[in-house]
Formats: sequence, C-alpha cells, structure tokens
Amino acid sequence: MENKSKDFLRRVVEKDLKSNKYNKIVTRFPPEPNGFPHIGHAKSISINFGIAKDYQGHCNLRMDDTNPTTEDTQYVEALKDAVEWLGFDWEGNVRYTSDYFDEIYNYAIRLIKMGKAYVDSLGEEEIREYRGTVKSVGKRSKYAERSITENLELFEKMKNGEFSEGKHILRAKIDMSSPNMKMRDPLLYRIRHAHHFRAGDKWAIYPMYDFAHCLSDYMEGVTHSICTLEFENNRDIYNWVLDTLSLNPPRPYQHEFARLGINYTMMSKRKLLELVENDAVNGWDDPRLPTIAGYKRRGYTPQSILNFCEGIGIAKANSMVDVAQLEFSIRDDLNTKVPRVLCVMNPLKVTITNYQGSEEIEASYYPHDVPKEGSRKLPFSKEIYIDRSDFKQNPDKGYFRLTPNQAVRLKYAYIISCQEIIKDENGEIIEIKAEYYPNSKSGEDKSGIKVKSAIQWVEKNAAKEIEVRVYDRLFKNEAPQGIEDLNPNSLQIIKNALIEPAVITDKPDERFQFEREGYFYADPIDYSSEFPVFNKIVGLKESSAKKKKAPQVVEKIKKIQIDGEVVAMSEDQEALFEKYTKEDKLNSEVANTLARDKKLSAFYQEALNELKSPINLANIISNEVARELKSKEINELKFSPKQIAELIKMIDDELISTKIAKVVYEEMAKSGKNPKQIVESKGLIQISDPKILLPIIEEIIDKNPDNVEKFRGGNTKLLGFFVGQVLKATKGKGNPKVVNLLVGERLKD
Ligand code: ATP
Ligand code: MG
Repeated sequence: MENKSKDFLRRVVEKDLKSNKYNKIVTRFPPEPNGFPHIGHAKSISINFGIAKDYQGHCNLRMDDTNPTTEDTQYVEALKDAVEWLGFDWEGNVRYTSDYFDEIYNYAIRLIKMGKAYVDSLGEEEIREYRGTVKSVGKRSKYAERSITENLELFEKMKNGEFSEGKHILRAKIDMSSPNMKMRDPLLYRIRHAHHFRAGDKWAIYPMYDFAHCLSDYMEGVTHSICTLEFENNRDIYNWVLDTLSLNPPRPYQHEFARLGINYTMMSKRKLLELVENDAVNGWDDPRLPTIAGYKRRGYTPQSILNFCEGIGIAKANSMVDVAQLEFSIRDDLNTKVPRVLCVMNPLKVTITNYQGSEEIEASYYPHDVPKEGSRKLPFSKEIYIDRSDFKQNPDKGYFRLTPNQAVRLKYAYIISCQEIIKDENGEIIEIKAEYYPNSKSGEDKSGIKVKSAIQWVEKNAAKEIEVRVYDRLFKNEAPQGIEDLNPNSLQIIKNALIEPAVITDKPDERFQFEREGYFYADPIDYSSEFPVFNKIVGLKESSAKKKKAPQVVEKIKKIQIDGEVVAMSEDQEALFEKYTKEDKLNSEVANTLARDKKLSAFYQEALNELKSPINLANIISNEVARELKSKEINELKFSPKQIAELIKMIDDELISTKIAKVVYEEMAKSGKNPKQIVESKGLIQISDPKILLPIIEEIIDKNPDNVEKFRGGNTKLLGFFVGQVLKATKGKGNPKVVNLLVGERLKD
C-alpha cells in the first residue's frame, strides 16, 4: 500500500517504527463494561485490532472497569463476543483495569510523595467554583497546602473506607490557571462505597479514568493509545501523569480520531440501556439496535461491518455517516454469496386452468453467477401463489407485471396470462384463473410471447409457511436522542408468507436472497423447522428518498480522509461549527471549511452582518472566496464582504441567476467594481418577463419537432433539454424557474 493512501494513524505508527521509537506495536481496545458494544465500538475494534495486525504487533482487550456502580459481567461477555465475531483475537487473557488497582494506588502514593498530588476536602460545589471558567483562571484549594505526611495519612484512610463519599478526593497538583480546564488539578481518586463486580469490597476508593487509563496503557506496554476526539483535552493529563512519574521508557502516546456517528442511529450505551430497560426494544440483541449483538442477530455479516468501518476511513473531524452506507455494505457482501430463493410475502392464489399434473423445475441458487454450483428443484402444479402486489386489475402506466391484458413470466417456469379474476363478497380479489403457455418454459421458450418481467411464486401444496420480521429504522429522526424519537413502525411481522420447500430444513443455510424482496436470515434464536422465522436484513436496493443523501456524505468523508492531516478542531472552531450547522443551517462540509479558517469565518461573519442569507453567502465564501484567499490576505482582496453580500442579494431577489453570479464574481474579483454596476453595464439582469421569454421558447419548440413529439409521447425527461436550450439562447440570463414553468406549459399543448 502506498503511504499516501494510508490513514493518519497508520502513518504515525509507521513513523514510530521507522524511528525505532518502538520495536513492536501494541494497541488496546478499552471498553467500559456498562452496556453492549455498538457499531461505534466496531469502528474502534477495527482500528485497534486492525493496526496491530497490519504491523505484526498485538492488541489487548481491556475492560475499563473503574466505575463499580454501572458495570457487569454480562457486558464483559458481550464485548468479548463482539471482538471474536468480528474476527479478532486479543493478546493473552482479557485484562481488567481493576487488576491494576494496587499498582495504580502505589503510583498515587508516589505522586503524593513528590508533592504532586494532594487530598482536597472542598465540597463538590466549591470545587466547581474554584475551577474557574474558560475565560477566568481558577483558584487553588487551601487544602493543597497539606503536608505530604498528612496527605499520605488521609489517603490511606480514604482507602480504608473511613470517610463517606464526597468527603475527600485526591487531586493532581498541576495548574489552576491552565487554559486547558482539564489540567486545573484534576481528580485522581474518589471515594465510592460500592461493591465492584470483580474487586469485591476491597476498595473504598476508585481511580478516575484520567489516572487509570494512562497507567494501564503503560503497564501493558501499549505504544499507541487510540481514542476518540472527545479525549483531546485529556491528552495533557495523560502526558502529565506519565512524565511526572518519570517511568522507564518506552511509554505510550495518545492519538485521537473522530468517533463514528450514523444518522437515524443512537449510539451511546447509556441511552441504549434506557431503550432496553423500558422494553422499547426486545433486549440488547434486538435486530433494530445498532449493537453488535443486534446486527449479528439480524443477519449482518462481520465482513460487511468491517468493510463499512474501513470504507468510511479514519477522520480527524467529527462527521455523520449516512446509514445507507452500512446498508450498502451488507448488500454488497451478500450479493454474490448467498443463494437466491422464491418467497411470496403476501400470497394470492393462481389456478392455471390448462395445466395438468405436476413437475419439478431445476433452478440454480446462483442464477446471476453461472459457474457457481448449487441448485434445487421447484415443485410446480396448477395451483400456485404469487404476491398480491404482482397482479393489478387496473394498472398504472409502467406496471410490468400481471394484469388482465399483460402476461408475466413465473420465474424459472412458464409464462401465464390472466383469464378471470375471482373476488369475495367485499370485492377483494381472492384468486386468479390463469392459463399458461406450454412452450414458454424458461430456458427453452419458443412461445414468442414478450413479457416485461418475471415474478416469484410458490407451489400451493409444497410451500411452507414462515414468519418474516421486517425492520425499518428504529428512529424517525436523523439525530435521535431517545425513546421520544422512536419510529412506531420499526417492526412489522408478516405471519403467513410462503416459501419454497427447499429452504426449510432443521439447519437452514443462514442467509438468503428472497428474489425481488431482499436479504433474509433465519433467526438464530427463534427459528425451527416447525416455526421458521426469518429476519429481513436489508432490501435489495435503497429507496430513492434515502439515496439522494448518500453521495454527499461519501464525498465529505473521502475529503477528510484525503486531507488526512486536518487537525482536530479547537474549542473555538467547534463553537463556530456548532453555530454554523445549528443556527445558520449550513451543511457540515461548508461549516467545516469556514470554521477551520480564521480568514474565511471572519469574512463570512462580516458578510452575514450585511445580509441574512447564510446558506448562499457561505457557499460562495467557502468556494470562490476561499480560492482567492489561499494566496491573499483579506485586505489584499479587490472586493469586500459587503460586496459579496450585495451580489448574493441580487440572487436572492432573483435579479440574476447563480450562473450569472459567477460571471459577475469573476469580474468583481478582477476589477473590484460593485456587482450592481457590473450587472447593469453588462446587461446581465435576469430575464423573468414571459413576454420576452415566450418568443424564444416558441422558436426552440419549432426547431425541435421530433423532441416535442417524444415529450408528448411520454418522454418527460426532455423537459430539461428544452429548458437548457432556452437558457442557452438567453446567454444564461433567463430565469430558470420561470423558463421551466413556461416551457412545461407550452409543451403540454
Ligand atoms: P458510549 O458513550 O457509547 O458508552 P464510550 O466511548 O463511553 O461509548 P467505551 O466503552 O469507553 O465507550 O469505549 C471503548 C472504546 O470505543 C473507546 O476507545 C471509545 O473511544 C471507542 N468508541 C466508543 N464509541 C465510539 C464511536 N462512536 N466511534 C468510534 N469509537 C468509539
Ligand atoms: Mg461511556
């Protein structure tokens, strides 16, 4: 692999190996066992275990169990299972931070003896107050003056459980005026009179993450301590602890990457626990949950999850990934691998009146992939079922399946046509009487009949009834917060679907494509050959509504990856980013560009003061103006934020089109003239007047009689052609909206 295409973490690792900083790479995956792991953890697993594997190092699995009140062994098991299922091995035994409690305690004593840690006895409220704010420095507690002896005594008593919770804490003595708030004498130990699921009742004090994590990493010989961006400010403490204790080298260093976020998905273990505890879902392995256990039960393959994690890359700026990407990944993995079978979700009986007897039709499991072996026999007789949606009495245009006037092929079998529709007393169709064409069998068709599609079917007596669980998104909004955002229709149970008999065995193949329906998985818990239950993994293709969004996100992620060097946002930049996306409603890519660049964000702010049109302003500033500012300072520009605002105002007022705006901008950037002046002197005002536009439209319609014919014959895509021609004839000055309307009207005649 060429170095350039590698993610920034692997580049760091390679550099460290090359410079002999380490001779072996050691990483770790350090979850807190307080819930089931989710797809975000899969990302972390794929990074930590993946890097160790790529560089012949190893990766530890460590339970970060410093919080006795929320942790439990069932979560430990789920975490182990997730790592194994994803195909990784941890080095040696599973490790636990609690196994290091003695050593960590000794390190605390060392810090006290160095005068670098003290027992504080302020109340929680005061501690917060004394810490100061981002804008003001903090004040050190008077207890920081305690002698080393007193500190040692108190700390010992804390350990022995002689004080109640909150009475004292152990703090590092660092810097109460540090610009990094985390460095203002951070907490190292707190009192907790709680039973620990492994350490039992031995301890009445528990180390804080910031103290335990770096030391655990060090003790395990970890070289690269990879974590998510929210720990960026903790890095200073990480370094402070290890440096202050002057430990024998080599020591680990922390590196942060952007945590995975997926739209329509909620990933915090704490919030997922809430769903489980409130029975909003059926346990941690509910196939609608983004837990590894949930994906596993639903039928996702480990490979598809790993491919997804790799495909989205490792970024240094937080971003949101479209859930469609994950769906794409599983589809992509299953497409060529799994057998294709016939299942009818919503059966409608068809009696083929001119068919006698029965037969078995050989059909490949892998019809798309000829060399792949494997087939079964489909029983066939005069009584079959097709899907209700594959017959329409009064079809819309473009309906290609069975209708009273349109034949259809039964997949792998014959062509049939509808002879009679049987309805019940409510007018509902309950049966179709059909005829088949004896010489139309698939593969040896001599009937000469043209059909537009082939549909799935099952033979009435041989078919097996199955239950199908169809899942939709668990949440109805893109950024769900909890139970209130649940999609009430996320689970649909279809009780009486019918499937071809070959599928149902005691131990079925695990995954199938039900042709024309999607990918399905025999539920690993509820399936039996008497009551077969299948989970829908994913449909065959994205619905068009979902589709639109994905490319943008993919592009964005690619971009961050290519510019892999982009550093994490500072607090100020983060705040701007928040404002841009939340208040100004900019998309995250534009917001990212602006927030990270001082010149651009200043320019944008000034323009915004002139004109409240954030989206249009941000677009031109993050593209055109940004290009200019690459080589110039703001005061070297020929134009001002005010002029950009004027230009955008003309777009907003529909005086000029965006296309013309680009022309005006170029001129403005060169000459520094006012946009209005440019528009006037060059006669670029947008043409919206139908009196001017209509004659041009007439002319173009007259010139293109063939296309007019086609348009009226149903090829509505040609509207774009006509609009384009008109805009061209007006040299880009025609108002596209108006032209669209007028052309549409005129073509209808
Ligand atoms: P949660 O808030 O969901 O409980 P966490 O960060 O508290 O997650 P931990 O159990 O501490 O979870 O996480 C173990 C490792 O997994 C950490 O290194 C953490 O950074 C990483 N991780 C957790 N969530 C994500 C995510 N969404 N994307 C990438 N890595 C993640
Ligand atoms: Mg957490």
